[in-house]
Amino acid sequence: MISSRAWLALFAAFAHVSASCGYGTILQPRDAQGPVAVNNFGYIGSKGPAGWAALDPVKNALCAKGTAQSPINLIGGVTRSVPKGQLSISIPDMTKGADFENLGTTVEVMAEGGKLSLAGTQYTLRQFHFHLPSEHLDHGLSMAMEMHMVWEADGGKIAVIAAFVDIPDSPTATKSTEPRVACGNIKHLSATERRALSQRQQDSSNETIPGLHERDARYDVPKKAAPKASALLQTVLGNVDKIAQPGTRIKTPPLVMSELVNVLSSGEFVTYQGSLTTPPCKEGVQWLISNQVLFIPVGVYDKARAVIGFNSRFPQNAPGQPNALF
Ligand SMILES: [Zn+2]
Repeated sequence: MISSRAWLALFAAFAHVSASCGYGTILQPRDAQGPVAVNNFGYIGSKGPAGWAALDPVKNALCAKGTAQSPINLIGGVTRSVPKGQLSISIPDMTKGADFENLGTTVEVMAEGGKLSLAGTQYTLRQFHFHLPSEHLDHGLSMAMEMHMVWEADGGKIAVIAAFVDIPDSPTATKSTEPRVACGNIKHLSATERRALSQRQQDSSNETIPGLHERDARYDVPKKAAPKASALLQTVLGNVDKIAQPGTRIKTPPLVMSELVNVLSSGEFVTYQGSLTTPPCKEGVQWLISNQVLFIPVGVYDKARAVIGFNSRFPQNAPGQPNALF
């Protein structure tokens, strides 16, 4: 009789990653007509983030050894502000809808036609998907969800736009019309929260990060919250129960992308060089994090949670520091 350890070894030997945050890019091309590629990695236990490198020690080596891994805690000094004029987004409305797939580890919209211009480099939108709770942290705090829009340039360079998603009638959302944990503006936090924040900031100020000397990119999120629920996210995630089973796909209703483009374009972005947050944890990914928070009604959030479950990689060390698992 084969032992559970041997099964694990067999699994690791034959496992390969079928889809990730890089799904639909040159890293992991997608067959639009074929079956939905369901992931073999997970978020809990030995299939979870601490075990990703063991699933495929060669392909996924960076998950345990990379020194520019994502997600990270967004604190002053780690990210840079993107100057206005360096970034522009255009995404046409998807009047015929788009494929919406359950990959087992996330739900993903295969978006077409979007263009991102960043410092002279042109990217094409491949897909957007969701993490629950948020993967990036705002000064140590997670948000209800995080949306990742994955873009690819000629040659395979990847950029990901990340936007936090919150619930309008949640206690955190009602506070978010002001900077929630902005340095120098924490008067609305409780005494306990202030002490915890102060300790975190003290800890982070002891970090040394090669190559980053400026503090012009302090990340104060959200400065200005979008006041109403996102119609786009309601359209997408309001149908998530129709792809409750991993490996299933539907066509969404028409998607009005202009709303999202307007919200993102009205705000600012901070950027850093990180990685995919899923195997193979490829580095060289240009992260662009919006300070505009998107909102969904609690009923839509409940639907999303019931299907997505928990799919957040634990926060990694700041770029340039040793891998948290090494
Ligand atoms: Zn992602």
